[in-house]
Amino acid sequence: MQLGVESIQRITLARELILRGYVNKIIEIESGLGTKTLNRLRMSLKEEGKSWPQPPRGTRQAQTIIKRVAHRQEFSIIMLAYRKYGGDSIFQHVSITALNSAYDTYRHLKGEFAPHTELANINDCYTLAVDLRSAEAEYENCTDCNVSYFVSFSQESSYRCPFCLNRENAQKNQAPASLAS
Ligand SMILES: [Zn+2]
Repeated sequence: MQLGVESIQRITLARELILRGYVNKIIEIESGLGTKTLNRLRMSLKEEGKSWPQPPRGTRQAQTIIKRVAHRQEFSIIMLAYRKYGGDSIFQHVSITALNSAYDTYRHLKGEFAPHTELANINDCYTLAVDLRSAEAEYENCTDCNVSYFVSFSQESSYRCPFCLNRENAQKNQAPASLAS
């Protein structure tokens, strides 16, 4: 029996992605492992006493993911961090390493500024990264606040800068601007 370095790398990656809450469909693409292997892996992780965020039922489309201004702002933060970690290569292929780093950064920021609010789902972030690679999404630059933000062409909400919109809404409601609106 030969246990190659490659298969160890695949298993290591799959374990990490399971613990991060990715669905099997995505882990199969990224690790090249099949559903059976992944389910066995999930079972042995459970036996080790590990747990992970419950994945949603199936993956969602950008249209469903980005509905409200607050969501657009959250996903913009993640996708901006993603570009910073992944560089221009993210327009050619999905970088799971860059995406995970971006998500960690987001989770950290969220913990500091809005600790008791729900986190964006990592599987949704992956869908947006795929859209970016397929040129179905892009970054826009806001001429008002000079910040880049993420836009998916299938989103049904406004294409305006979510950071400006959120600030305007907060001013309207005379409440302090918050990530958790
Ligand atoms: Zn703006």
